[in-house]
Amino acid sequence: MKSLLAKATRQHTRNHNSRLILRVIYEDETISRADIARKTGLTRTTVSAVVSELIEQGLIEETGAGQSTGGRLPILLRVAHEAHGVLALSFEDTQIVGALVDMRGSIQRRIGVSLYGYRPEELIGYLSRLIEELRTDSTMHILGIGLSMPGIVDPVRGVVRRAVNFGLVDAPLRQVLQERYHLPVYLDNEAHLAALAEYMFGSGSNSGNLVVISVGVGIGAGVVLNGALFPGDGFGAGEIGHVVVANNGARCNCGNVGCLETVASVPAIVRAVQKQYSDPASHLRALAPSAAAIDLDVIRQALEAGDPGVIEIVEKAGYYLGIAVANIVGLLNIERIVLTGALATLGPPLLEAVRASLARHALAPLVAMTRVECIPARGDAVLLGIAAMVLDQELGLLHPSGALP
Ligand SMILES: [Zn+2]
Repeated sequence: MKSLLAKATRQHTRNHNSRLILRVIYEDETISRADIARKTGLTRTTVSAVVSELIEQGLIEETGAGQSTGGRLPILLRVAHEAHGVLALSFEDTQIVGALVDMRGSIQRRIGVSLYGYRPEELIGYLSRLIEELRTDSTMHILGIGLSMPGIVDPVRGVVRRAVNFGLVDAPLRQVLQERYHLPVYLDNEAHLAALAEYMFGSGSNSGNLVVISVGVGIGAGVVLNGALFPGDGFGAGEIGHVVVANNGARCNCGNVGCLETVASVPAIVRAVQKQYSDPASHLRALAPSAAAIDLDVIRQALEAGDPGVIEIVEKAGYYLGIAVANIVGLLNIERIVLTGALATLGPPLLEAVRASLARHALAPLVAMTRVECIPARGDAVLLGIAAMVLDQELGLLHPSGALP
């Protein structure tokens, strides 16, 4: 019993050291064995042994000599990032997008399958077609399969609890895909994954904490705390879209009245602007042939043209988003908050309204240290978030080295 325990402890230490060293190499791009020892506090012998194992696994490689500090030139190591990657599957409005993403977040291959005529019982067929096509003729070693789904997802059990648009209730996707492909499978909600993508492949965060609010058809946030995604007790952390902010507001899809989504989501803003089309003072007639043709591009042009009605609508949306941000700041005091998703393409007029509303609704010293930024969604944000999730789970690459678990 005692020796079993000792063996388990040794194995645990080895895994811990291996993850720590891989993370240091990943963060430094290229680094020598001696510098790894200095950075991690591990002995040169331990570092050499773990590095040999990682080279054997193909996760890292030697890449020439570095600068000499006297004596022999040190051999530099780097992560073999193109040889390993993640098979990412993202459920979007009208299609499922699949991609091979390498360890540095480069998308090496991408395909989409239209959901036209989709039926939930055919879901696994859709996914299998994507997975098999992505793997054909690829030499990339797949670390795992990751999925993103709008809706409530239980990442611990690997079950989609409820995804209204895809007709899924308690769908055990991990189990089904794991049995079929014998690869680790991870899934999460898309707003959470957008936050992970910004944390790992975007500008990150100095403190290990970050909130990313995605505003598109829906509104959701992802919260990174101490270098890890905070899921919430029921995996619903960041579901701010259905917090009621407008008394006597419009009815929401969820059945409630005046949710944030009814005043600040893209469809809510487009609907409000469409109502202005018949106003003779509006610039909209010069920008779109009909009210139905109004989209975010038209709205952005109307803002640039100084259309007062459109400015008012966007400022109102910013005002309500600012109340949501004020609540987040008051609760968590996280200094970097990013607005992303389609709405973020509206840029400064939206951002200024959000900041003004935040200043009005939260405590001044907290507001003063909070940076709210607008980063228009890269089309790939969710695919990168999926890659970040799998790299974190399989290799422990997400945690900043200053905040080891
Ligand atoms: Zn609602």
